[in-house]
Amino acid sequence: VIHLADVRRSFAQGGVTIDVLKGINLAVQPGEIVGLLGPSGSGKSTLLQAVGLLEGGFTGSIRIASEEAANLSSNGRTLLRKTALGFIYQFHHLLPDFTARENVVLPQLIMGKTRDEAAERADQLLSRLGLGQRLDHRPSQLSGGEQQRVAVARALANRPKVVLADEPTGNLDEATADIVFAEFLHLVREEGSAALVATHNERLATRMDRVVRLHDGRIA
Ligand code: ATP
Ligand code: MG
Repeated sequence: VIHLADVRRSFAQGGVTIDVLKGINLAVQPGEIVGLLGPSGSGKSTLLQAVGLLEGGFTGSIRIASEEAANLSSNGRTLLRKTALGFIYQFHHLLPDFTARENVVLPQLIMGKTRDEAAERADQLLSRLGLGQRLDHRPSQLSGGEQQRVAVARALANRPKVVLADEPTGNLDEATADIVFAEFLHLVREEGSAALVATHNERLATRMDRVVRLHDGRIA
């Protein structure tokens, strides 16, 4: 469902060019959960940005759900991102003025679901994540772990083929991170989504189907 071939990314800085991704080849199958490990600065977030279709500047072939990104218009890329991808970040980026339910409803309305359908899906996902009693809380009224669970529900709301996660439990204490990550994996497997998860956490990595290690812009 993800096919990367010879993906490269360089940044020009102060007159020098730094090669951050130096020819990445990676295939992720439907439903497969892949950990992306590597030292700080090795290019994990940059690689997720390539798959996330949010930024240009990459060369090589980036195929998501059989679509070659380079062949799509800007609108086509936006549509593919909204239909095929779900995102989870280290800091959740929830909308502060909206409740947990509304944060999960909104991305579904953008995809044309009715408010009732979207609310039913939101309540089901949030309940599965243990937030059935927190549906009408705003992010500021939730703990960090609870906020991150809302971010998981939001990422899965539109049943994406691929979930991209960048240090999804990075700002949680160890025990909470383990619980939230277990719930994340359980739900992703149940939904049949694939996931690419960047993390420093070797313990979390052991729970994934496969681990890919980045070193100096290459897969080791
Ligand atoms: P961490 O584990 O700390 O999150 P990472 O593996 O995610 O690290 P990246 O964020 O992908 O690393 O960064 C890889 C390298 O690319 C770093 O050396 C960083 O300084 C550089 N880099 C990333 N974005 C830019 C940018 N917009 N301009 C210049 N250099 C950048
Ligand atoms: Mg990073």
